[in-house]
Amino acid sequence: MSAVLVVGSVALDSVETPFGRIEDAIGGSGTFFSASASHLTPVNLVGVVGNDYPMERLEPLRARGVDLAGLVRADGESFRWRGRYRHDLNSAETLETRLGVFSQFRPQIPAQFRTSPYVFLGNIDPRLQHDVLDQVEKPRLVACDTMNFWIESRRHELLRLLGRVDILLLNDAEARQLTEEYNLVRAARWILARGPKHVVIKKGEHGAYMFSSHSVFFAPAYPLEEVFDPTGAGDSFAGGFVGYLARTGRADEAAMRRAVVYGSTLGSFAVERFSIDRLLEIHRVDIARRLEEFRKLVAFEEELDE
Ligand code: AMP
Repeated sequence: MSAVLVVGSVALDSVETPFGRIEDAIGGSGTFFSASASHLTPVNLVGVVGNDYPMERLEPLRARGVDLAGLVRADGESFRWRGRYRHDLNSAETLETRLGVFSQFRPQIPAQFRTSPYVFLGNIDPRLQHDVLDQVEKPRLVACDTMNFWIESRRHELLRLLGRVDILLLNDAEARQLTEEYNLVRAARWILARGPKHVVIKKGEHGAYMFSSHSVFFAPAYPLEEVFDPTGAGDSFAGGFVGYLARTGRADEAAMRRAVVYGSTLGSFAVERFSIDRLLEIHRVDIARRLEEFRKLVAFEEELDE
């Protein structure tokens, strides 16, 4: 079992969904990833918060094996994101992004984290994602996420980053925006031609595709009766995905496919409550049960000719 180094936002989220609203909830790509991946493997989190951040609310993460030695507390306001979901829960509408201490942040990877064999570059400024790769020592696997905000504002740096990562995870809208291809198969091919060996394109409640140069795999999303707040689904998916690979040390096609199902599983828990609440509540047995449900969901028998 290897540790995963994650660099991402540690945020205060204010979210409105058709079912309720919350102000200044614990959020951020680094936070959701850590809450999810820590079910599978130790996590080393690197990020920054302002001096207004309620640090005690991150204690449950520490208790779950997330090492917070790389989480810096800087003078100023924490990163804040305000979003809204209407009835289409697949797409968040960003109402406000306040970078706060994030705008001055240069990640300093603590010496003991630099040899982490698995690295996840959470959704942050691609210039910072580059900074992280400059500081780590030959990781076995680098996975990366991004979003519309950075595709728009840091396109050049993001394209350069693709040459340095093994796996890119992004949602369908982001894939289309990045590649300017509407068709997702073509979008995937466009991305694969620029460096990553795998690309995972998530389609919210419609599941996720994983493409490589020679294979395509699809996993459905778990058909939940109630999706409460989709915030963090993508990062929790990434946590399950990378966490599984780090736990098993495998990178063959069968393991990669199982990693997608772990991603879908952890993502499905994240959306059942606000913030990381549900991820902190579940245990190994809940995950195992849902994995089994996934298996049943896609199992069918071939019709045999009599
Ligand atoms: P997702 O998993 O895609 O739903 O990611 C949701 C998280 O991304 C929220 O908790 C936000 O705090 C965080 N977030 C939103 N915008 C940004 C941004 N521009 N950079 C980094 N993190 C962000």
